[in-house]
Amino acid sequence: MTQHSIPDEILLDYANGSLPEAFDLLLAAHVSIDNEARGRLDEVEAVGGALMDGLDAVDMDEGSLEATLAKITGTAPAEVSNPAAQAPCQVLPRPIRDYVGGGLDSVKWRSVGMGCKQAILNHDGESSARLLYIPAGVEMPDHGHKGTEMTLVLKGAFLDGDTRFARGDVEIADEETEHRPVADTGDDCICLVACSGSLRFTGLLPRIAQPFFRI
Ligand code: ZN
Repeated sequence: MTQHSIPDEILLDYANGSLPEAFDLLLAAHVSIDNEARGRLDEVEAVGGALMDGLDAVDMDEGSLEATLAKITGTAPAEVSNPAAQAPCQVLPRPIRDYVGGGLDSVKWRSVGMGCKQAILNHDGESSARLLYIPAGVEMPDHGHKGTEMTLVLKGAFLDGDTRFARGDVEIADEETEHRPVADTGDDCICLVACSGSLRFTGLLPRIAQPFFRI
């Protein structure tokens, strides 16, 4: 199973607040930068009606916090008055910036070899979330999955077989998936990866790269 968009059932789980924390974060980030997903989430909410809870993060689009703070402090953020002017977008969507405590400059990267870096944002018993930095053109190790892995592209793009995933796209992998994503040439790739269970590795190279994935 490899796909670009989040199935409605998972959007419903997100709307209900029933996803493990790492996936909750990934969904919050996804709907904050992907209009199609946010639109479907709105539909899911409409259908689900009063069931919904915990949607504050979704309702808060880019800039609304700044606007609120501006009201409090009396300073006017220029970007809010003109949505088009927000164009030089932050690589990290607000839900991730909240985790990191700032923008990309605040990420505490750790080198994991092959020029790749990772930063673990969250790890509890049932899920983990991390940011991955993959230099342009670098191939990821071949691996399988014991649980579900969702990868949200924040910068650059990666290729998995014939499929290209760019900013806002989500790849979902599960036990059936053995893939070898490659960062697209031209730009370094930054992704948010949410995992359940632990990843299973195949082949020789992954032995070297295992610390990269083991959390
Ligand atoms: Zn994978």
